[in-house]
Order: sequence, then structure tokens, then C-alpha cells
Amino acid sequence: MSSEFDLIARHFTRPAPTARLGVGDDAALLGCTPGMELAVSSDMLVAGTHFLADADPLSLGHKTLAVNLSDMAAMGAVPRWVLLSLSLPEADDAWLAAFSQGFFGLAARFGVELVGGDTTRGHLNLCVTILGEVPAGQALRRDGARPGDDIWVSGELGGAALGLRHLLRDAELDPEAAGACLARLQRPEPRVPLGLALRGLASAAIDISDGLLADLGHILERSGVAAELDYPSLPAAPAVAARLPAPPVMACLLGGGDDYELCFTVPPGQAAAVRVAGQAAGVALSRVGRITAGAGLRLLDAYGREMALPARGFDHFGAEHAA
Ligand code: ADP
Ligand code: MG
Repeated sequence: MSSEFDLIARHFTRPAPTARLGVGDDAALLGCTPGMELAVSSDMLVAGTHFLADADPLSLGHKTLAVNLSDMAAMGAVPRWVLLSLSLPEADDAWLAAFSQGFFGLAARFGVELVGGDTTRGHLNLCVTILGEVPAGQALRRDGARPGDDIWVSGELGGAALGLRHLLRDAELDPEAAGACLARLQRPEPRVPLGLALRGLASAAIDISDGLLADLGHILERSGVAAELDYPSLPAAPAVAARLPAPPVMACLLGGGDDYELCFTVPPGQAAAVRVAGQAAGVALSRVGRITAGAGLRLLDAYGREMALPARGFDHFGAEHAA
């Protein structure tokens, strides 16, 4: 790619005022705020696996950063800097301009600076490494849930997965429902303010990228506990709620990925504080179950009877792929 340096200069070089050194040298130089520790995470989006190859580049730029911001949200960290590594089949200026517009639009909203990356030719592949800061010892981890804790979920679930089914012509949605579900799939809103508001309150947290059952399952495993989920209290996206209880739609609600909401646990008696955190962060919160002793996850209906669990969440190396 002969124009690699032009391409970086044109599309990926922006001021990074809080970095000591940003794009253009062999490495960026960053100073961590005293008393804070770094939260570092990487997420890769591969054409054909995480998005369709003809995806709109503006939305793709947004989503590439959003999924990484969501990891910072889930840790209770303030996102600060990102590195963007791209593999591109060709240097398509219009595509890159739209992609970087989506990427930097979201970066500006969250005060995140692009400080480096790598650019090569190859199959379309987008990888972001993000660095955030969290007061030492206060990160929201997956391993802190205890029996008796309440389980909460932010926002709405299942809309992104239903939007994907619509794109793949597996589900038929009217234009209004399709618009809402595709927005959830293509332009997820990372719950960064909520993650910050949950510091000192949540005992464990995770972002829902692979479906509620799978991601709550990670909290259960890391914390060595079990859970009961109250099916009627799950916050289904409106288009999902309107189509329940069709099994594929129920699978979107429980096992569909890409919503990027937060699932978190809170010690008992803190519901009022959780509501305050939700209001401060501007997102609805639903109490959906509780942590119990033991292992595994039970789904309960309105009468407290156990329900069968549908297909598991998205597992790239598993046999079953949920929508
Ligand atoms: P090197 O040869 O040292 O790896 P590169 O030529 O790959 O350097 O990159 C030159 C500079 O541009 C580096 O500072 C690198 O971090 C930055 N850079 C490369 N690609 C990107 C990108 N897609 N986004 C942001 N910065 C990038
Ligand atoms: Mg390089």
C-alpha cells in the first residue's frame, strides 16, 4: 500500500492533547494519572464474522470503537486512548473517510484520543486496543458476585440480534421495527457513564456482547456462584417483546449478542442506589434475578417455575451459533 503514510495522515491523524506523544513516532507516550491503574483491552472485528463485508463504513467506524468503549464501561474505567490496527483490501478514500467519521464522532463524545495503530493490506479486519483509567482497586470485575446479590441489566435486550436476523432475511420486520433493531446492531451505545456510576456499588459487571446467558455465565463462573433469572422481568426491546414467545425471538432475548448493555450484580438492599446510578447515567435499569449458591443458571417463569433454556450465546468456536 504505497499511500500508507498519506492514508494515515489523512484519515487517522488527529490531535491527541492528553498524550505526551501521539501518532507518527515508533510508539505513543502516555502518562497515567497518579492513583489510577490502567484498564487495557483489545477487540477485533473481522468481515464475515462480526459484520457483513458490505456494511456501511460510517456505522462500522462507530461500532469498532463502541465495542471497545463497552469493555471500559464494564470495568468502570474512564476511556482515554485507543490504537487502531487495520487490514484493508484497498485504500478506498470514500470508505476510509466515512469509517473515520464514525470512529472519531464517537471518540469525540467520550473524550478518547487515537494515539497509534498499524495499517496493512489484507482481508478487512479492524482491531482496536483501548486504554482507560480506574482508581486503583476499584475496577468492576467479573469475580465479585456473591449469593444474595441482585442481578441487573441496563437498557433493552434482543434488538441487535433481531436486527441481524432481519438483515439475514431470517425475520421479517416492519420498517419501524427494522430501523430500531438495526440501530441497536450497527450503532450500539457504550454504557460508559453507567460503568462509572456503578463503581463502589456493583459487586461484578460484564458487557453483553455474546448474549445475556453467556455473559452472565462468565460472571457466575468467575465468581463461583449460581443464578436465578426472572424471565418476565427481562427488558426485551419493543420489537422483541412484540414477537415473543416465538422461540427464535426468545433466543434473541436470552442468547443474542451485540446489544452492549451492562449486566451487573449488586449486594442486597441497594436497589435505590442503583436507580440513582441509572438516572445519573441516563439509562433504564431492570432487576432481573439474583445470585445463589452453587453453580449454573435457572430461568424462572412468572410463577417461579423453571423454564427450559434456549440455545447458548455466540461462541466463535462452538458448534451452535445463535442468531
Ligand atoms: P512502524 O513502521 O514503526 O510500525 P508505521 O509506519 O506502522 O510505523 O506507523 C507510523 C505511525 O502511524 C505510528 O505512530 C503508528 O502508531 C501510526 N499508525 C499506523 N496506522 C495507524 C492507524 N490505522 N491509526 C492510527 N495510527 C496509525
Ligand atoms: Mg507499524
